[in-house]
Amino acid sequence: MGIAENIQQIVTEISPAARLIAVTKTKPVEMLMEAYQAGFKRYGENKVQEMVGKYEQMPKDIEWHLIGHLQSNKVKYMASFVAMIHSVDSLKLLQEINKQAAKNNRVIDCLLQVFIAQEETKFGLSEEELEELLVSEELKSMQNVRIVGLMGMASNTDDEAQVRLEFRGLKQLFDKLNARAADFPANVDFKEISMGMSGDYLLAVEEGSTLVRVGSAIFGSR
Ligand SMILES: *Cc1c(COP(=O)(O)O)cnc(C)c1O
Repeated sequence: MGIAENIQQIVTEISPAARLIAVTKTKPVEMLMEAYQAGFKRYGENKVQEMVGKYEQMPKDIEWHLIGHLQSNKVKYMASFVAMIHSVDSLKLLQEINKQAAKNNRVIDCLLQVFIAQEETKFGLSEEELEELLVSEELKSMQNVRIVGLMGMASNTDDEAQVRLEFRGLKQLFDKLNARAADFPANVDFKEISMGMSGDYLLAVEEGSTLVRVGSAIFGSR
């Protein structure tokens, strides 16, 4: 199947519960254009430099999602156009996003990345750190960021039961925090759960995902 057909199939499978982010890292602009010409406009990249390069070459009505680990010093390169940052894992990073968004007269939607996997290598906040950030005085004063939900990456394993448990845990955490919305400032508005990739997006949607990040199942392996 071609790129457009792959996208169409996944969109059909996950709708209306979730929206698809087509992950285009390492893939050439020609492939993105193929998807764009079929009407698809929501893309995810894991590196700022690569996203900026593609942003410059592609039409401007695209929704760009930064899904990979982000260093504070890179925020400025994409603050003018990024639609959502999925990988916020510290107050310091959030402060920099707020600062750069202000310079561009924008409010940038952010997800807090939560550590849900068993591996040591995955980035993200613990539940404790998450709560600490959400009730912090610093967050209240940030006018140019909006925290719209949580993002998580499951363990890289074939054990479906394990992956399902990790997704379920993230959804439970989301619900728990959502029930405490009154404790958090106005720039916290939980509505998105970003979870699920090529191998597990159906599972993720069953467990409550609203945004799946799918690359290789659309564009082929990297
Ligand atoms: C690469 C990547 C994906 C997509 O992975 P696939 O297995 O190709 O679908 C999703 N999320 C993040 C954070 C990624 O870096």
